[in-house]
Amino acid sequence: MRKHIVAGNWKMNNDLVQTQSLITELKKQSQTSDAEVMIAPTFTNLSAAFEALKGLEIEVIAQNMHFAESGAYTGEVSAEMLKSVGVQTVILGHSERRAYFNETDELLAKKVDAALANKMRVIFCFGEELADRKSDKHESIVENQIKKALFHLKASAFEQIVLAYEPVWAIGTGETASPEQAQDMHAFIRETLAKKYGQETANSVSILYGGSVKPGNAKEIFSKPDVDGGLIGGAALKAEDFYAIVNAF
Ligand code: PEP
Repeated sequence: MRKHIVAGNWKMNNDLVQTQSLITELKKQSQTSDAEVMIAPTFTNLSAAFEALKGLEIEVIAQNMHFAESGAYTGEVSAEMLKSVGVQTVILGHSERRAYFNETDELLAKKVDAALANKMRVIFCFGEELADRKSDKHESIVENQIKKALFHLKASAFEQIVLAYEPVWAIGTGETASPEQAQDMHAFIRETLAKKYGQETANSVSILYGGSVKPGNAKEIFSKPDVDGGLIGGAALKAEDFYAIVNAF
């Protein structure tokens, strides 16, 4: 079912002590919106985050995983390993994974399959680069990313999938897509899903926007009908800012 979701992607920030103290700060905030709230600490701090969050309705999620069950993949983490510490949701396809670790749509399709086979929920990220938008290719780029990584799935798989549209030019740059640009792209994404899987499935999928969402712009972006929430980077590292965004619904 389509839900409001605000997920904080902590990236490679916060050691153990910093993780615990940011969670202490998060606990002081109060939630007034209906959004599902998630945080994605780094792998080494997932268990500590669960421990520190006890009693609070924030889901701890992972930033990435490998597609294989186990084996000779030095430095990697599997779905089973994540599940064994309580993680049920994983971010896949973040633009930093695509840009710095050469993750392709074909590889991401395998990761999505592995997550779904383990009954995990996936936040699947995609988005165009600045040159694509300037040359008016943003829709076809996004359409291809979604088709290549997800369109081998059955409609029922979308119960476990959340989409996150993150224009690369807006991530960590302070530049955001305008609320209208976000809405136009989200409507296009929903239409692309509807063409393949039908309107009912398309309407049931939460589509998040990510890219320099801050307390000052969240309300306007979240007011758009096809924007169901946000994937938040920089602003998720300050408890007050993060909750100002959570409460922007
Ligand atoms: C992100 O990392 O997914 C992100 C959207 O970062 P920021 O909010 O800092 O642009």
